[in-house]
Amino acid sequence: MEKKSTSRREFLATAGKAGVAAGLSFTVLPSLANSFNNGNLGGEWYRQDPLPYSYKDLEPVIDAMTMEIHYTKHAATYTKNLNDAMKEEYKKAGIEGLDRTLGEISKYSAKMRNNAGGHYNHELFWKCMTNKPALKPSGKLSAAIDKTFGSFDAFKTQFGEAAKTRFGSGWAWLIITADNKLKITSTPNQDNPLMDIAEVKGMPLLGLDVWEHAYYLKYQNKRPDYIANWWGIVNWEFVQKRYESLA
Ligand code: MN
Repeated sequence: MEKKSTSRREFLATAGKAGVAAGLSFTVLPSLANSFNNGNLGGEWYRQDPLPYSYKDLEPVIDAMTMEIHYTKHAATYTKNLNDAMKEEYKKAGIEGLDRTLGEISKYSAKMRNNAGGHYNHELFWKCMTNKPALKPSGKLSAAIDKTFGSFDAFKTQFGEAAKTRFGSGWAWLIITADNKLKITSTPNQDNPLMDIAEVKGMPLLGLDVWEHAYYLKYQNKRPDYIANWWGIVNWEFVQKRYESLA
């Protein structure tokens, strides 16, 4: 418990704000605990959670082959390489949680940055999608989106722009900042908004992978089509729970 509250303080300090957003830590999200902080299990610190659906369940938005390769090859490699990086840098990272390591990522190697980010981002991404989509948020999150962005459609347009205009490989995000505001941002490569080197910092609520490996088999160069279709599989129930735990 001691270490978890330290972690939260550090996140808030990193974000440059104080005293708000109680619970900005994965400790309040038990369903994510396994994948984000396993502890040292015989030299294996982190594991992929099983996908919450089958490879073909997100069709036609994301085809089964893309899902299978993405999960079993790309994402699995980040997890493996994160465990390798942990072997080398364990003394700095400890087992206090990936969110803490990410918050101090400038102190670590490029290998840790790329693979801690890669593991975290994909574990979140899988859970942000579902074959039983709600299509739009409701409750507190819906109200906050309307207040912040004007409307759900305006939010989707702005998020879509962030995803389309992220040059090269990277991610688009909806985050909650340490002063409890919703923001849209994007990051290059496998960086994310928890990292101390991120331009815009906060806790990711929703993330979209815009690496070509996420869409190229079906969409080729048409990233905007992938983004437009992706709204049809977003797991708003999951995103809402994250928001309600943190806001
Ligand atoms: Mn990916």
